Amino acid sequence: MRYKTHIVSSLTLGAGISITLHYPFHVGYVLGIMFGSLLPDIDEPRSFIGRRSFGFASFVNETFGHRGITHSLFAWGIVSFFCLLSPTPFTIGISLGYLFHLFGDFFSVRSIQLFLPFHPFRPKLPLSYKTGSLSEDILFYIFTILLVYFVFILGHLHHYFILSSTELLDKMIHILVEIIKGVMT
Ligand SMILES: [Zn+2]
Repeated sequence: MRYKTHIVSSLTLGAGISITLHYPFHVGYVLGIMFGSLLPDIDEPRSFIGRRSFGFASFVNETFGHRGITHSLFAWGIVSFFCLLSPTPFTIGISLGYLFHLFGDFFSVRSIQLFLPFHPFRPKLPLSYKTGSLSEDILFYIFTILLVYFVFILGHLHHYFILSSTELLDKMIHILVEIIKGVMT
């Protein structure tokens, strides 16, 4: 799956969780899901996140290969453990986004080895899509429509998202003003 499809499909699932569990669609939660949904591809230097990793992706790629350990439930467990040491909407979002990425890649033709490093099992699924193909494009559009439907129509999640975004912006401006004040005096 390409990064755009990962982001949109993960946000759609995240919005679905917000609706069913009444979990607030906070801006931190949204940013966390977006970041988490890109994180497993830190094992690929040419991926969206890999190109911005200051060489770290090359190291992970040489050590573990692409779609290796970073695409396992084991890695998800470790990431989630650290995230949930201080649970915030952002860290909960990262944990969920990571899991949704694995979910997305699992259904690709190549699939992933979910049980690494314990077992190399890689499933062959009857229903799968090829990364970068027309079938992925179709998935991208379906998830985009679903996301819009979940956020604006079914869950009215945009109200709280906008509210929390303005609060975050307000906080950031406040901090910036304090810094400028500190520099000036
Ligand atoms: Zn991946």
